[in-house]
Amino acid sequence: MRVLRVALEVPVAKLFDYLAEDRTPAGPGDRVVVPFGARQRVGVVVEIGDGSAVSTARLKPIVRVLDDAPPLSAAWLEQMRFLSSYYQRPLGETVAGALPPRLRSLKPLPKKRGSSADPFGSGAPRYVAGHEPNAAQALAIGRICAALGDFRIFLLHGITGSGKTEVYLRLIAQVIERGQQALALVPEIGLTPQLEARFRQAFPDARIAVLHSALQDTARTHAWLDAACGDAQIVLGTRLAVLTPMPRLGLVVVDEEHDASYKQQEGLRYSGRDAAIVRGKLAGCPVVLGTATPSLESWFNCRAGRYELLALAERAVPGAKLPVVGTVDLRAENAQHGLAKPVIEAIASRLARGEQSLVFINRRGYAPVLACEACGWAAGCNRCSARLVVHKAAERSRESSGCLRCHHCGAAQAIPRGCPTCGNVDLRPLGRGTQRVEETLAGLFPQARILRIDRDSSRRRGDLARTLAGIGRGEGDILVGTQLLAKGHDFPNLTLVCVLNADNALLSTDYRSAERLFATLAQVGGRSGRREQPGEVLVQTRYPGHPMFQALTRHDYAGFAQSQLAERESAGFPPYVHEAALRAEATRLETTMAFLNAAARLVPAPEGVRIYDPVPHVITRRAGYERAQLIVQSASRPALQEFLRAWSTALPATAPSGLRWHLDVDPIEFD
Ligand SMILES: [Zn+2]
Ligand SMILES: [Zn+2]
Repeated sequence: MRVLRVALEVPVAKLFDYLAEDRTPAGPGDRVVVPFGARQRVGVVVEIGDGSAVSTARLKPIVRVLDDAPPLSAAWLEQMRFLSSYYQRPLGETVAGALPPRLRSLKPLPKKRGSSADPFGSGAPRYVAGHEPNAAQALAIGRICAALGDFRIFLLHGITGSGKTEVYLRLIAQVIERGQQALALVPEIGLTPQLEARFRQAFPDARIAVLHSALQDTARTHAWLDAACGDAQIVLGTRLAVLTPMPRLGLVVVDEEHDASYKQQEGLRYSGRDAAIVRGKLAGCPVVLGTATPSLESWFNCRAGRYELLALAERAVPGAKLPVVGTVDLRAENAQHGLAKPVIEAIASRLARGEQSLVFINRRGYAPVLACEACGWAAGCNRCSARLVVHKAAERSRESSGCLRCHHCGAAQAIPRGCPTCGNVDLRPLGRGTQRVEETLAGLFPQARILRIDRDSSRRRGDLARTLAGIGRGEGDILVGTQLLAKGHDFPNLTLVCVLNADNALLSTDYRSAERLFATLAQVGGRSGRREQPGEVLVQTRYPGHPMFQALTRHDYAGFAQSQLAERESAGFPPYVHEAALRAEATRLETTMAFLNAAARLVPAPEGVRIYDPVPHVITRRAGYERAQLIVQSASRPALQEFLRAWSTALPATAPSGLRWHLDVDPIEFD
């Protein structure tokens, strides 16, 4: 008796058995419609067995095989098995989560777009070169090209503006030439429209499938099918693109490999970068991790000889230099409305020369606190243990007055007329966000064109791309912005970057915050001076002697990484140990803590695995739920994995109803 074992989107760690009948031949990788309870579902056949724990009388046959998309390959199923086992998520949910929604619905797929008769025929890889590679780029291209056809991992450590993209494009041209497909991952595609344009310019005749979660259903299905059928020579996308089948995969590129957005924070909590490495291993092809500021994990792997380091230490545009980085000591300088005098003078001098300045403050809104100075009251969210942020009236909206918004749960309310505790009508916004800085700059420089760029200023699709393109053409004299401005953009006329509130991150208890701050400042600083005019970066701080600023001033990533790794080693943090977090939330904190305490004793920890005591999150209450977590650590990944397998099997029976929990392997967020 042949039995089909089918992965279904059901939150239990098992496959479901169906009878294999001769009239509906199906094999591993086929999408099938099966009866499940009273209805029908789409699943994926994972394996064929010759017996079942279910009695033959109760086994049902499948309804039909879906043949409107190519069957999923053995390598793809192998990747799913790995992710399911490593991240402790049932295979059925892992497989379902990796497919675009349309492929797991009973609705028929949209008609496939016409494929070129011979997508890899002569002429189709025509590559339009950007510029001639310099010596370092040529060396990197040569090393990686020599590895095509083999699984090797390269860390392309290139300073901002060093031409990493040109290296990727030339490698991809080689891969297409060989009749293979290339996968290029980027952190957030909406933020980098220039990158997609550059790919299309470089490969005018190639079929490029662009994949990200904001795509509409039909567009995403088409792009997925293009990749899975082998019609697309290039797949360019965010982390989810790493889950797309590609029958002739010849190269994987992960741009900005250090970026935290590669980590999925719900469902299958995978790292897109780590999944890319597994992908390269299964396909037997090179993986290129590119960045100006490698993650400490990748740097550590380089030093251990697991990755090959390729360095681009000079800017690609001849004559362009890295910006001069300086600090402004806030203990000595009297900052007016948050801006110190040297910063104001530097902006004024750029205005006089017709150059652009960027003021970076990683906090949106007008002010982070609304307070009563008479009694000490401050506006807080009813559903979260967090303060409400003051927002001014949104542009292009009918709202005439501002409001208070919670950045954790999204709740919004009107600004109260007086203090709810003592009745004082003189409520003060304290601290500053992008809107308030914009207001201050408008007062200081009334003749300047000031552009604010944050999630509030670019709510509609396409807003951000248009604004960024405008800045690239020289629109705006002073830009005020958050993280959104830090990534990958090329603004030729920008020569000054001022950083306002870097100290918050320095004081954070999260051991990753220094690494992230260094990466952010190097990124945002790297926006300046990308052409002939030299760039300058000014960081306002109360800690100008901090080693991180010293390293930043010297552009010394290696030195910074070495000191961080030494700290991590002595404190026993990743990458020297491996971690998993068990997180839980319930309406009462006692329920959350009782579950975590019981979980900590549920399965005995094997030798070398350490279970820490549960602790509430810093922002304990969010959207009405009280949250806490416990960390499990081990220097041995196999030992940790063995423990997690036993644990995740035992945990579901321990959780009371109403409590939500999940496991996060290799967690990166701890708030
Ligand atoms: Zn009051
Ligand atoms: Zn809230």
